[in-house]
Amino acid sequence: MKKLSLIIALIISVSVFAGFAPKNNGNPTPKPNDQGAPAWLNEANATPTPAPTAKPTQTPRPTARPAGATFEPTTDPNFSQTPEPENSSSEQPSATPEPTQTPKPEFVKAGTPEAETIKVPILLYHHISDDFNLTNAISIISPRDFNLHMTAIKTQYTPISLREYVEFVNCKDGSKTLPTNPIIVTFDDGYLSNYEVAYPILKKLEIPATIFIVTDTVGEKSGDGKVNYTHFNWEQAKEMQDSGLIDIESHTNDHVKLGQLDADTVNYELRKSKYLIEKNLGKTCDMIAYPYGSYSDTAIQASKKAGFIAQCLVGDDATDIDYEVNIPRDGVMNLTRITVSGTMGNVNIIELVRKSIANKKTD
Ligand SMILES: [Zn+2]
Repeated sequence: MKKLSLIIALIISVSVFAGFAPKNNGNPTPKPNDQGAPAWLNEANATPTPAPTAKPTQTPRPTARPAGATFEPTTDPNFSQTPEPENSSSEQPSATPEPTQTPKPEFVKAGTPEAETIKVPILLYHHISDDFNLTNAISIISPRDFNLHMTAIKTQYTPISLREYVEFVNCKDGSKTLPTNPIIVTFDDGYLSNYEVAYPILKKLEIPATIFIVTDTVGEKSGDGKVNYTHFNWEQAKEMQDSGLIDIESHTNDHVKLGQLDADTVNYELRKSKYLIEKNLGKTCDMIAYPYGSYSDTAIQASKKAGFIAQCLVGDDATDIDYEVNIPRDGVMNLTRITVSGTMGNVNIIELVRKSIANKKTD
């Protein structure tokens, strides 16, 4: 039975991801799918031998999981949200007490008291590769772990785009809504791995994301002197942008610390990156992420003047302060992100997000 296998596969995948079992713990090697996608892409849909402790027929809880709840993948009815392209809609209800309908997320309306304090985590990724070690992994995560992270957040939260959040915060007439358990995925720098590895996963799971790019290094290849890892080119950026799932925004032109620069240079960095993105992608560029999290009053004011309506202040340095979440009351000019670094290994991202949400004060 496909759904049963899927649930079992997810239990095992999430267990591995959560660090409960070593990698490659005897599971069959996943096969590439018929589109020729990499093997790890289908890992969550593989059908390994069920572990003796798995309880796939356990009665699920009837209500949607609130944000911040304990990570309990074996009983979550939202597992049926995981993409299952073939025949999933034609399955007949059986005697097994499985969820027959995916619970719809609850929504909060802009302008209401609850809307002011809804907690919104924004994840920050960079490069995705298996080629890293503990000394250079500050901003690299393996494809396998990235896939597991995305599968987990899709199950436990409701991924939204950064733009949806910005529009919600700026909404004055109550016309915008937000799911009660939102999460946002972002990337910095513009690595080719975002296009080759992350984009297929995000498409498969229907997770929107914002990629903040360094415009001077678009299309630059590793070994050519400018970048350590190859960056995607404008055609690839346009393909992602035109999909409607990915939004390409500014991470300055030269990946500089704006907080340490004079006003003229700040203006050059902001306006050149905005111009190049708009010219090459045919869209408005109005959001910025500051490289290294470096900013100043000058930079913030210059960004506003240049037309940036949202600013991510915390960027590449994985410090404690990164592990914060946002609330609409704080606005969108000082968005904070949870930096996911490769040094975390197969970190339990759900636990990290849960703690960050729990730590955020709203009063
Ligand atoms: Zn960066």
